[in-house]
Amino acid sequence: MKYLVLLLMVVGGIWWIRQQRQSSQTPQKKTSPQVVVACAHCGTHVPENEAIRGTQGVYCSEAHRQNHEG
Ligand SMILES: [Zn+2]
Repeated sequence: MKYLVLLLMVVGGIWWIRQQRQSSQTPQKKTSPQVVVACAHCGTHVPENEAIRGTQGVYCSEAHRQNHEG
């Protein structure tokens, strides 16, 4: 009888862990692949849509574009 209780606890524990795992496996939001570019001045990676475009490359900020291109 003692072992039956123990067995039920083990089975119950496994069931509980499986439930926890299933609940944590929520489908991840699909994010569109974002193109990241490196700043030509400091090398900081910035999303392409936020990058400042210059004649000699792309920059993380307007200040770096001016610093780099003069
Ligand atoms: Zn920069």
